[in-house]
Amino acid sequence: MARDTFYSGVAPRLILFLPLYLTLRPMADTNNELHHILTDIQSALRQEQELFGSTFYTDSVSTQKESDQNAMASRKKVPVVETGADLFGFAPPTATTPHEQLLPYPSEPWVGAKNLDELNSMICACVKCPLGTTRIKFVFGVGNPDADIVFVGEAPGADEDAQGEPFVGRAGQLLNKILEAIHFKRDEVYICNILKCRPPNNREPQADEIDQCEPHLWKQLELLKPKIIVCLGRVAGQTLLRTTASLGELRGKVHSYRGINLVVTYHPAALLRNPNWKKPTWEDVQWIRKMYDEMKAKGGANPA
Ligand code: URA
Repeated sequence: MARDTFYSGVAPRLILFLPLYLTLRPMADTNNELHHILTDIQSALRQEQELFGSTFYTDSVSTQKESDQNAMASRKKVPVVETGADLFGFAPPTATTPHEQLLPYPSEPWVGAKNLDELNSMICACVKCPLGTTRIKFVFGVGNPDADIVFVGEAPGADEDAQGEPFVGRAGQLLNKILEAIHFKRDEVYICNILKCRPPNNREPQADEIDQCEPHLWKQLELLKPKIIVCLGRVAGQTLLRTTASLGELRGKVHSYRGINLVVTYHPAALLRNPNWKKPTWEDVQWIRKMYDEMKAKGGANPA
């Protein structure tokens, strides 16, 4: 099997369909069935990308180098540490990733920040990557500075960029409902993203942007000291775990990120596109809540 990226493999195929689609679209009433087929193809490809990333499996021979395929593939990888816990069981990580040794902080003043406000004020004018020049607002993070659980998304979208707060758009409304369903108030947990600035047209974060921005997240997490990190979506999971493993492979396991328990579930925006993923997400978040309660019952220690 050869691999093409979504953009080199799928996008050109979609473009081939474009003239046909544009011709048929105005006739959608009379060609309803065909219109639905095309919509289904589009939605299936989007879901494929959500689940498996920008890697598209074909039988053709690709000339694209694997290392060019996406941001995750071009970053230094560390092994994904799994415990073998299934969706309904829990076991703490049995080993830690070598993140700490591999990835030292840059020599920059914000590394000495004593609290979240100080860190925010020291990095909010960041222009280390080009997103710093296109953002409206820097989106640091929001919530309880003493939270034991932190939800990490991908990057701010248009609403977040406008308001300077993560998850305030449609996906954010859904995240609020998910939190409510497992009896968390939004201000009881902490919410942030891999990137603090919005990528143009909501495209996926690029490797160089992540490399510049992720150390800010390490510091944020160092100050927060959460017991559980919940990655919302494939991109957040792949980025923090430095893996190209699929969302399916990452879900339902307890990983370790710089010594902190990390779990991965669907991104709320993915649920808006595919409501079929709400049920598995519900199972994930109930499991996460159970893990949180067990941890709390043990006085904050990792649940065994
Ligand atoms: N999607 C994200 O990943 N983060 C946000 O803050 C909003 C939408």
